Amino acid sequence: MTAGAGRYAPTPSGDLHIGNLRTALLAWLFARRTGRAFRLRIDDLDPDRSRDPAGQLADLAALGLTHDGPIVRQSARTSSYAKVLDGLIEGGLVYECFCTRREIAEAPTAPHHPPGAYPGTCRSLTRSEIEAKHASGRTPALRLRAEVSALTIEDELHGAFAGGVDDMVLRRADGVHAYNLAVVIDDHDIGVDQVVRGDDLLASTPRQAYLYDVLGHPRPSYVHVPLVLNAQGQRLAKRDGPVTMRDLGLPAHLVLAMLGASLGLCADDEQVDVEVLLDRFDPNAIPQEPWVFG
Ligand SMILES: [Zn+2]
Repeated sequence: MTAGAGRYAPTPSGDLHIGNLRTALLAWLFARRTGRAFRLRIDDLDPDRSRDPAGQLADLAALGLTHDGPIVRQSARTSSYAKVLDGLIEGGLVYECFCTRREIAEAPTAPHHPPGAYPGTCRSLTRSEIEAKHASGRTPALRLRAEVSALTIEDELHGAFAGGVDDMVLRRADGVHAYNLAVVIDDHDIGVDQVVRGDDLLASTPRQAYLYDVLGHPRPSYVHVPLVLNAQGQRLAKRDGPVTMRDLGLPAHLVLAMLGASLGLCADDEQVDVEVLLDRFDPNAIPQEPWVFG
């Protein structure tokens, strides 16, 4: 086993649906195929969206997706995020942003920036302007003073991918550390050097890669895998009907065979376990098209 690790990191917002489970299986296959450990992390930073992850963990275990080391919970790691953030503040790389969501949405953005990119409104506020904002009762978010506006990353399935980097939020106005900051610190701290996840996250990856660069950490290898879509061609969601293991009412081995079949690794009624799928798994041969479910 090499020193590196892959991971799966669900947000505990209820049962995993078949698309989440397929991504988890792919993350496990990629990690095990390359001799890596496999870590599980619960991305429960946002208290409003977090539920008990027991059901999610039970489903992953039922599929046979073994993991190494303790399960990490982001909610228990805020002191690590605060420490890294302090270092960035000391380095002059952080500024206060008083903008509301609406102000950002209405501000003009630079042409090469993705929709929703921060236009830099508060980047050069004077000391008296900052004091006036504080005096008006606004609580600031903290943003990274980015020195690039775009970055190219390498993805194992997509090749070179160029995307925008803006002055991303590091800590929200409500004091919660930003997802982009937390995942980079977490993955570095627990030795994750392979990130396999849905390709809806590809656009945000240059931001995270830039944070690795700023923190002086080597970037992980990235694998953005095709999503599972509903019959209308939209990203699968729980409102699409029976899409969780519980709602489907199928035993785990049939769900696994269904996932394996969608990856071309078995027939959908074949008796397989994850080790069989691993034996047959070729990272270069996974379907590039989304899988339509339902
Ligand atoms: Zn601002």
